[in-house]
Amino acid sequence: MSDNFIIGGEIIPRRTRRLIELELPPLYTHAPMNLPVHVIRGSKDGPRLFISAAIHGDELNGTEIIRRLLKQPALKRLRGTLVAVPIVNVYGLIHHSRYLPDRRDLNRSFPGSAKGSIAARLANLFLREIVAKADVGLDLHTGALHRSNLPQIRANLDDTGTLELATAFGAPVVINSNTRDGSLRACAAKRGMPILIYEAGEALRFDETCIRTGLRGILNVMRHMHMLPAVKSSSPIKPVIARSTRWIRASTSGIVTDKAKLGSTISKGQVMAMISDPLGEDETRVIAPSDGIIIGRSNLPLAHEGDALFNLGTFRNMPKASSAVESLDPTPTA
Ligand SMILES: [Zn+2]
Repeated sequence: MSDNFIIGGEIIPRRTRRLIELELPPLYTHAPMNLPVHVIRGSKDGPRLFISAAIHGDELNGTEIIRRLLKQPALKRLRGTLVAVPIVNVYGLIHHSRYLPDRRDLNRSFPGSAKGSIAARLANLFLREIVAKADVGLDLHTGALHRSNLPQIRANLDDTGTLELATAFGAPVVINSNTRDGSLRACAAKRGMPILIYEAGEALRFDETCIRTGLRGILNVMRHMHMLPAVKSSSPIKPVIARSTRWIRASTSGIVTDKAKLGSTISKGQVMAMISDPLGEDETRVIAPSDGIIIGRSNLPLAHEGDALFNLGTFRNMPKASSAVESLDPTPTA
């Protein structure tokens, strides 16, 4: 491995910390646009890890996780190279939007091309300047608008190295999920790069538990990769792997009340919510089709028939899964 790390044409020697601004297409107002990238190189050679957030421009928890990560005193003892991109979709973030100004989804635009749409160009730049220079990736997401995800890692668990990293992260739930065409994860997987997706919370909101769990998870992964010195963790979360996940959809349209909470343990046959017409004359119960834990939930009290209300994860060992979720701690651990 070369001793030099080059990004945006700049050589970054060991023992340095730099903010690189990668040039992006300007706005049509003539305002210049850049992709801010933080690069931290330790004094010793080691793994190269990239961490990205807000590939969907309205998913903010990851941006805050990276802001806090960059302030960690432990980074003074870093081995290897950390490349952190707190806002990948800088265009979407301005408008509180998941998408690019041309309404494309950046996470369906990989690998992109230097001469394609604005989404394709941003995807391609990210691939060339960030992904191609790293050994491992961590991409931070949240649920969509009005939808919360319980802190969870999604990854290809059939790959042993990826499974180890996913377990080391210490989110309560780990899901073996297929990649989608055009996603960063699919693109990284094609290159043989282990990549974890951390999903936690809701779009356009900060959630303290999700932010703390994410920050702690990143530090756990970095310790596992020997990028940071090991510490004794007081009460590590023992993650459980979901056997399957399924969406529970509204069987009718109406006002949704008495909704089970995110993270709740559900038994088959339990009433998860009520759907009624606005006059309260017709009431329909939403019944759990199996045992499980609510790992995703719509926060809107309104649903059309077919709308997804809950994402229910099923687990081989339900008591173990419940206790992993209960161990999520909203209090600071410093
Ligand atoms: Zn996302």
